[in-house]
Amino acid sequence: MEGAAVSAPSEAPGAIPSADDLIARVKSYHPGADGELIRRAYEYSREKHAHQKRHSGEPYYGHTVAVAMLLAELHLDVATVCTGLLHDTVEDTEATLEEIAELFGEDVARLVDGETKLSQMELVSQRTRQAENFQKLVLAITDDVRVLLVKLCDRLHNMRTLHFMPKPEKRERIARETLEIYAPLARRIGVNRICVELEDLAFRNINPDAYESINRRLSALRTTRASAIAAMSSLLSQRLEEAGIDCRVFGREKRPYSIWRKLERKGTSFDDIADIYAFRVIVTSPDDCYRTLGVIHQNWRCVPERFHDYISTPKPNNYRSLHTTIVGPHNVRIELQIRTEAMEAVAETGVAAHWRYKSGKYAYDAKAAREAGGDPLERLRAFVEILDHGGDPDEFLEHAKLEMLSDQVYAFTPKGELIALPQGATPLDFAFAVHTELGAGAVGVRINGRERPLRTRLRNGDTVEIIKGGVRQPPAGWEDLVVTGRAKAAIRKLIRETQQQEFERLGRVIAEHAFQREGKAFKESLLDDALSRLDVKTPEALYQALGRGQVTSTQLLDAVFPGQRSKQGEDPSQRELIDDEKASLFVHGGGLTPGVSLHFAKCCSPLPGDRIVGIMRKDEGVEVHVIDCERLAELEEEDPESGAGWVDLKWTPEARTNSAAIGRIHATVRNEPGALAEIAIAVREARGNIVNIKSISRSRDFFDMAFDIEVFDVRHLSNIVAALKTCDRVVSAERARYE
Ligand code: MN
Repeated sequence: MEGAAVSAPSEAPGAIPSADDLIARVKSYHPGADGELIRRAYEYSREKHAHQKRHSGEPYYGHTVAVAMLLAELHLDVATVCTGLLHDTVEDTEATLEEIAELFGEDVARLVDGETKLSQMELVSQRTRQAENFQKLVLAITDDVRVLLVKLCDRLHNMRTLHFMPKPEKRERIARETLEIYAPLARRIGVNRICVELEDLAFRNINPDAYESINRRLSALRTTRASAIAAMSSLLSQRLEEAGIDCRVFGREKRPYSIWRKLERKGTSFDDIADIYAFRVIVTSPDDCYRTLGVIHQNWRCVPERFHDYISTPKPNNYRSLHTTIVGPHNVRIELQIRTEAMEAVAETGVAAHWRYKSGKYAYDAKAAREAGGDPLERLRAFVEILDHGGDPDEFLEHAKLEMLSDQVYAFTPKGELIALPQGATPLDFAFAVHTELGAGAVGVRINGRERPLRTRLRNGDTVEIIKGGVRQPPAGWEDLVVTGRAKAAIRKLIRETQQQEFERLGRVIAEHAFQREGKAFKESLLDDALSRLDVKTPEALYQALGRGQVTSTQLLDAVFPGQRSKQGEDPSQRELIDDEKASLFVHGGGLTPGVSLHFAKCCSPLPGDRIVGIMRKDEGVEVHVIDCERLAELEEEDPESGAGWVDLKWTPEARTNSAAIGRIHATVRNEPGALAEIAIAVREARGNIVNIKSISRSRDFFDMAFDIEVFDVRHLSNIVAALKTCDRVVSAERARYE
């Protein structure tokens, strides 16, 4: 019968196997095993758990021995078996990891540590969405699958003894968790034996009536069909023997939970499912699998859509087998699974089938695993991606909860901490999820050790290292790079704060400037009386208002010096009288950020070196114009008061090193082949960089164009204009000032 369970579930606790029993079990497949280590772990567990009892009433260590026995049935190594014995010691007793390491070695200690961490994660999973933690679990254990195997055997024994747990709601919670988390995990690493038993035990606890009813009908079938199955079995063996194929044939029975799942689907009845007989044929080589298939298809008609070749295309968990359904004697449908012994071992115990002796050591054999169809551990790592791409959907995505998982992406910090993010998340989301400061200071990222753009979408399992810079000033564009609400909110807040700081700084500069124009020395204490007059509470608030243009410098001076202010500052013509050095403020390097509180007017695109002036724009900060920009005159006409909002500006020396300035050139060019190339070469030789070309008008002989060119300053732009004028095909060229 299928799924010969790892060992029979028992209703009542039996005798606890002795250390000798356990050692003998391990030595049966691993003769060189360190029996003394196992014995010491056995005694240690008994001693540490001495005062604890299970719900069944048996001493606690009976559970740890049972788990170790299950691991031995999976033919795992000594460290794993010892971990089975010790898995609850650090979590539940005063034992420490250091002590475990000292007594049983680093390998065992690492595994026990993994168990303890998983238990802690389980606690978290009770409070949050379980399915989400299911994946955390998977990713957390991919370092060493033995941790997961111990966990699964632990869970299996807990499920076998679940009926001893007094509280029904607790039983149900554990059963659901088993169905949603542990059974799929077991299937994913191919330990189907454990998977089907976990499913049936969970099903039995969640829906006892359905379980009993299915079970009753199955045992009824067992009796009525016994002879038919035996007959079919020997007929199959006979046909294959005639063809010279060495084989083993046995009937297999559906599991209650798998029947239940099929019943849940529409249009299927118990009889539909039960009408199908199922057999497994075990042969000696993959070659024989196909020969067997040939023999069977020659003897009986096959149901075409029911044929699957999982040998040439294994399932993601490494399951390999041929599946076919034939119409047998008396028109009975017969399902057949055809596979080798090795495939059978992998089908039953998955990853665990790959522990064996190699160069004197009993260990996981990745090479053999790869030869058997791929290293399941590597696949485990790719597991989440497989889920995303809908691999093996029959088995997995049926659970609606698991479907939600494909919306999630899991990434690690360099220290191995797991961060869960929505699909499409970028390193910035990651950084803000770790800490706001980390997000705010991010200037770059290394993903899996390689530098990547911040807009890169994270993939499952990525290790993300955020590169921090000094700035704490997120560019406005960052908002479009993130998908999480947390990052969006943090970025908005930072931008708001930056703006506030900038407006404050700008306001202070304006205040100082206004005082200067009055010929008075600026002192913050002079503002005290003005605060209430201007209806603000603090000097900072006043600077804010000034910076944002909500209070003008005229209003400020009126409030500070009521009735005694000269009218000089209001007259724009007076500006010319002000000493350029003293009156100058900033632009680049003055602490103001272009795009936040400082904007270069599009109408005249000022370049470093141009004489410039600023205009306060309400809530936007300063707009920078070239001093003879025609737009300035227009603004003055529109709003005669605006003169008071003018700010004298000067380029700081640093401005020139900031090459982001864009200058525009208008040129009239002959309509000839090669004209553009000639211009491009001239600009390049003058060390300019064309960032945009616009055709304004075109005739038969000439065309007018506008070029936007990245330059250092106005002199650089003049050089380029001059260089263009030397071109044969350029008729005229000049700096474009006004749109
Ligand atoms: Mn346990």
